[in-house]
Amino acid sequence: MSFSSLGLSDEIVRAVTEHGYTIPTPIQLQAIPTVLSGGDLLAGAQTGTGKTAGFTLPILHRLSSGGDKAPSGGYTPGHYPIRALMLTPTRELAAQVEESVRTYGKYVKLKSMVMFGGVNINPQIQRLRTRVDILVATPGRLLDHLQQKTVDLSHVEILVLDEADRMLDMGFIRDIKRVLAVLPKHRQNLLFSATFSDEIKLLADGLLNKPALIEVARRNVTADTVAQKVYKVDRERKRELLTHLIKEHSWHQVLVFTRTKHGANKLSEQLTKEGIPALAIHGNKSQAARTRALSEFKTGKLQVLVATDIAARGIDISELPHVVNFELPNVPEDYVHRIGRTGRAGSEGEAVSLVCIDEKKLLSDIERLIKREIPEVVVPGFEPDPSIKAEPILNGQNRGGGQQRSGGRSQPGARSGNRSAAPSAARPRGPAGSGAGKPPLHRTGGRGR
Ligand code: AMP
Repeated sequence: MSFSSLGLSDEIVRAVTEHGYTIPTPIQLQAIPTVLSGGDLLAGAQTGTGKTAGFTLPILHRLSSGGDKAPSGGYTPGHYPIRALMLTPTRELAAQVEESVRTYGKYVKLKSMVMFGGVNINPQIQRLRTRVDILVATPGRLLDHLQQKTVDLSHVEILVLDEADRMLDMGFIRDIKRVLAVLPKHRQNLLFSATFSDEIKLLADGLLNKPALIEVARRNVTADTVAQKVYKVDRERKRELLTHLIKEHSWHQVLVFTRTKHGANKLSEQLTKEGIPALAIHGNKSQAARTRALSEFKTGKLQVLVATDIAARGIDISELPHVVNFELPNVPEDYVHRIGRTGRAGSEGEAVSLVCIDEKKLLSDIERLIKREIPEVVVPGFEPDPSIKAEPILNGQNRGGGQQRSGGRSQPGARSGNRSAAPSAARPRGPAGSGAGKPPLHRTGGRGR
């Protein structure tokens, strides 16, 4: 099965082929015809399945095949209809999705724009005065524009909610509802989510009209192309072991996850001191610093990128060879998201977790979720000391850890993988009925605003 046999136009097939794709992935095989037919879609697809092209390609086709919709006399400045709106939870994911739109839309006459918070709003306002057919946005900043009346969504024909589960986890439900309220009633809706909680089902029920249902990989299943390993090690020797592994195996591109922003900073500084170039990426970093770290890492200039969970959403580096969990995540689902950064779309990858005695329960929660045992390895010279006692992991940090969990998700009681404290209970973002319902800034780390 090829992209052209799915009914996509020559211009789109050409761009995709030039980008190196020859065979559609399973989600693309199913999603493309559905989206082309104009129907709504509810898709369960984990990251790394090729879902972005799954919705972007048919949207580009639909928007470009009706001919250029520009009125005969041209557009009146400031009156360009935005025809597709794609909402994503994080800035990085928004940037990446919009980059895909540009890549795949290279040969069609559509203009796209990415919009997110953490950067000056004025250039976005300027850009909105020019032609934008496809807008990729994070909900918070989009809402700011709506409030300032600098964006007009009254011509949107297609809405995409990408990683909808994560948007709910991050407390965006109210923002999303406010955006939905200003969209035209008749439109095509596509909802992508890695998991299907009751909240997602509720959102889907209210949003989608007789949707086609697609589920490509069973949820919470890790890709088979990722070799997973657990290195047993003492709490205080993790950094030493990480340095050893990177040097010993000459790992040249490593994405390392820590639980906290502080932990990410500390680790990246220590690695740099040891001659391993590393930068941290998390919500307390400026957008410019995040973008720079990511691009240096992507191009291979930076050997190690240390990230917190939320900041890492949307990081897509093709064939990323190594992902290291320096600390296991509190929420087992985050393990799946983290290691989804490697072994993407068929390439092989390795996901390594450095696990100390404190993390025994987190590990067993993860293994229960992914329904497999992860092989354990002990590196000679790093054998755990049996006399060391487990210490509780409080609030996303253990001894020597940081102040808070990444993103808007640090919550009292979110400990030891206790799912009840986990984010599926979307926290409201502010007191009911209060203005934009914005949380205080210090809690927005890594979020899509
Ligand atoms: P996504 O799940 O959309 O984040 O995509 C995961 C990765 O798969 C990205 O690096 C894409 O560039 C890549 N990809 C998407 N579609 C294909 C395809 N048909 N063949 C090969 N790689 C693909």
